[in-house]
Amino acid sequence: MRLLVFGPFTALAAIALLGLSSFAQQPPPPSKPPNCPPEGFSGGFTRGCPQKQFANPADVSAMMAAIPDKPYVAPQSLRRVLVLGRAVGWVHTSIPLATKMVEYLGDKTGAWMTTITYDAAAITPENLKQYDAVFLASTTGAFLDDPNDKAVTELRKQALLDFVKSGKGLAGIHAATDCYHSTTRPASPGAAPVLAGTWPEFNEMIGGFFKSHWNYPTLITAKIDDPASPLNVMFSPRGYDIIDETYTFAQDSFSRKRVHVLTSVNYAKMSADDKAKEPAATKRTDGDYALSYIQRVGNGRVFYESHGHDEKVYFQRPFVAHILAGIQYALGDLKADDSPSEK
Ligand SMILES: [Zn+2]
Repeated sequence: MRLLVFGPFTALAAIALLGLSSFAQQPPPPSKPPNCPPEGFSGGFTRGCPQKQFANPADVSAMMAAIPDKPYVAPQSLRRVLVLGRAVGWVHTSIPLATKMVEYLGDKTGAWMTTITYDAAAITPENLKQYDAVFLASTTGAFLDDPNDKAVTELRKQALLDFVKSGKGLAGIHAATDCYHSTTRPASPGAAPVLAGTWPEFNEMIGGFFKSHWNYPTLITAKIDDPASPLNVMFSPRGYDIIDETYTFAQDSFSRKRVHVLTSVNYAKMSADDKAKEPAATKRTDGDYALSYIQRVGNGRVFYESHGHDEKVYFQRPFVAHILAGIQYALGDLKADDSPSEK
């Protein structure tokens, strides 16, 4: 799930040994023309191939069995959600399943209707008018960009920002934070690389950007930061264990002064071995690794959940229920305290 953009062998070896990967967003340099699989590309970098857009039927069945019967709150009106599955960096195999999860959540509970697209051209002011929320299914890289048309790119980016700020919703899962950031080679050997957002308004709106991750499979104990939140009723207040690939955010890109944290890594319960896998040069100094959160952006609402790398996560009832509640919050139906966790 990673590619290094700078590559002294020592750094490669060190990160491989640590088992924690960095710099996931950057696509590899172009090589030979793509030899695209007929079913579409997933599980790596596309090199320009169309993405796979259908999920394994057995995975869909297992996911459907985890979907709640009822919404957390009745929708105030007929809600429509646009799911975008376009990944420009790493393409997760779980993207089609994530898109189907949103569709079936809405269908079974009656909380919303869903349109699924893998085409960034769907993000225009006119098209977004019919939707109440946009869901980003592990989008990576510059997922709204048209590399050949700067004006179109800017139109899409502004359309998404305006959509949310006007009072609509944005929900994102896993690699929705592995978007629009770059890593610059360290100034000197051993120095920290510079991590930077490349679209600050989006980086802030989604609540952070990717720095590194604990590889799949790593057992993480999650703590419930706000047991009183209606978005956390599916969890035991004591927390829960989950096995997935767990993201960490660049130090200053995530802040409790901006977002209302719902769940986070129980760092005290993490083994010393796993703690040591976080690259030392960019290690967070606060031991604060959010897993899910909400925030107000303008008049709109944003929900983000950092897990969802592996298909098996979508078979777990609390996880799927958390996404249901998060989307209902983003839609404006489920009310919750979304004030920043740190005042
Ligand atoms: Zn992943």
